[in-house]
Amino acid sequence: MFKKLKKYFYLYVLKRKYYRVGSCNACGRCCQKIYVKHRNIIQTEEEFEKLKTQHEFYTFLKVVDKDETGLVFECENLDKETKKCKIHKRRPGICRRYPQEELFGMGGTLAEHCGYKLVPIESFEEVFDRVSKRKKI
Ligand code: SF4
Ligand code: SF4
Repeated sequence: MFKKLKKYFYLYVLKRKYYRVGSCNACGRCCQKIYVKHRNIIQTEEEFEKLKTQHEFYTFLKVVDKDETGLVFECENLDKETKKCKIHKRRPGICRRYPQEELFGMGGTLAEHCGYKLVPIESFEEVFDRVSKRKKI
């Protein structure tokens, strides 16, 4: 019963397609080599400067590279030796919620060896069944 309720809640209230399972192994990879998307993936330092005024999180980031996707950032709150977040207890919501399924919509993937996984809430068969029934109506 709890499983069914949970599934309903995630699918129809939260409008999620995936459950986040697993746990953080504090590898620090999601705090490095990251892209920033705000409408589009940030390409220039000018765009990024404007973004900094919109949320404190962006002020933590510094540009470390640029590739064919866009600017590459890392967070200055990451302690590179311990791989721990220096502001762990007051880290922003975006960090607490990582990884979220929106990541896939942005063309991103989970950081390599991340301890979390995003698993589909509905199996392929369940989705197929639901769509087929809808078509018959
Ligand atoms: S604030 Fe902490 S958890 Fe968030 S990206 Fe920076 S180092 Fe990582
Ligand atoms: S990549 Fe995954 S396991 Fe590594 S610090 Fe980020 S959330 Fe934790």
